[in-house]
Order: sequence, then C-alpha cells, then structure tokens
Amino acid sequence: MKHLFLSLLAGVSLLATTPSGHAAQLKALVIDGQNNHNWKGTTPHLVKALESSGLFKVEVATAPAKGGDMASFKPKFSDFDVIVSNYNGEPWSAETKAAFEAYVKNGGGFVSVHAADNSFPEWKEYNKIIGVGGWGGRTEKDGPYVRFIDGKVAKVMDAGRGGSHGQQHDFVVEVRDTNHPITAGLPAKWLHVKDELYDRLRGPAENLTVLATAFANPAKGGSGHHEPMLMAIDYGKGRSFHTALGHSPECMKCVGFIVTLQRGAEWAATGKVTQKVPADFPAADKLSIRD
Ligand code: ZN
Repeated sequence: MKHLFLSLLAGVSLLATTPSGHAAQLKALVIDGQNNHNWKGTTPHLVKALESSGLFKVEVATAPAKGGDMASFKPKFSDFDVIVSNYNGEPWSAETKAAFEAYVKNGGGFVSVHAADNSFPEWKEYNKIIGVGGWGGRTEKDGPYVRFIDGKVAKVMDAGRGGSHGQQHDFVVEVRDTNHPITAGLPAKWLHVKDELYDRLRGPAENLTVLATAFANPAKGGSGHHEPMLMAIDYGKGRSFHTALGHSPECMKCVGFIVTLQRGAEWAATGKVTQKVPADFPAADKLSIRD
C-alpha cells in the first residue's frame, strides 16, 4: 500500500503544470534561422505568446545561416504537436522536407507566420500546406489569388505576381468565419497595430478556409481587395493555420496577433480551441498592445 502511494505521488509530480494550471501537454516547435525579417527579434514574441496561453511547452529549432550546412537541419517534427514557422530561407534537405510532409499528412499541426509564406516557392506540398504564398517568383502558375468579394471567398485566376504590400499602417481585420474554432467569439472587426498588409498572395488554395480578411487600401499602396489575413488549411490528417500578420516585433505586441496565434496554434495541434477571448482583445476602433 505504501509502495502504491509513493508511485502515485511520483506520477503526480511528473504532470507538469503551467502558471494557468493546465497540464503542459502540447509541445510546440518554432523554426527560425533564416528570414528576410528580424527573426531574432520576433521568435521571442512567438515563444512568449504560445507559453503565456498556458497550453504549450515551446522549443526553438534554428536552421543554419544562409550558405550553411542545411543537411544538418533535421528537427524531429514528430515529437511535437505543432510546428510554428518563422522561417523564410534556403530549401531544406530532401530528407527534412519528406519528414515535414509526412508529419503534417499524418495529423501534425503547422502554423505559418507572415514571411514563412514567402518561403519555398518551388516546394509543391509546402504550398498546399500554407494554401497561398507570396514572392519568390510566384505567379498564376502557382494557383489563384484568394480574395473576399461580395460576401464570399473568390479564387481569381488573373495573371500576375504573387505577393505585394503597400506602406505599413494600422488596419481593421474582419472576421469572415464566425463558426471556426479559431475565430468563434472574436469581435467581427478589430484594429490591428501598424503592420505590413500582405496582398496578392496566391497558391494552390486547396481545402482552405478564409477566417479573416483586411482591405488593402489603394491609398496606402494596396491591391484594392479584401485580402486573407487568417486562414485554416486541411492537409491530409493535419491542420495548418496561416497568419499573414506579424512583420516585426512591434506588430506581435498586438493582442489580436497574440490571441489569434494562440488559438490558431491550439487548433492546429488539436482541432479544438479551449481558450477564452481575453477582455483586452482590440475593438474595431481601439488598438490593444501587450508589452
Ligand atoms: Zn514583412
């Protein structure tokens, strides 16, 4: 009896808990190391956002710098519930690409943050996993533009470049799917802090749900269309959450960015969202920043 009791105690102590009291059961891996953006500045914000939800234990895998030995970059994706990419750089090895594809296909979660959707223009399966991407020579050969026209999602096969943006500014994000776990319960419109508003993204756009859009105002150099900002993509048994937001560390202080990242990562990892929308979520006319 005494022996059993001690075993139970040992078992209990192994269940790590977080500040919020949840069992720290979801493992997240943030990938960085190459990006035309300030990845050294943004990765800590991604880690902090995920960990502060109380749901994730986060590790970071930093790829070799440009020109380094990419064959040595072999994260063990299958050890994690969700992979969060802050990576926009050189191709991974064939082995690492195959492991990543198998991971998502078999039910793994993925989150693409901002310029992660610029990466890997030639990698077909990656583009299916992110749904749409920009730059890197993407054109109509890569798939349609995805826009929100007359109250619904439209895939537009016009010829032209994939990916552009106007000048940075505060802009309103509009929720377009109020039933999806990631966006259910969020305000219909909320003001996002000064960021780069990606437009003209294009790609396979298969099994893609547009969760939220923003209007790329031509007065700011935008496309003049309602552009997808938050997306959910099904790929095999896996789930992918794509946020086009998050150009810089400052952009990642927006509570709208933080909360949608937390919810998107939980959904990608589990298919559900258990988090409540916090009281400091931004409103249509009010920014909200967490330092
Ligand atoms: Zn950017």
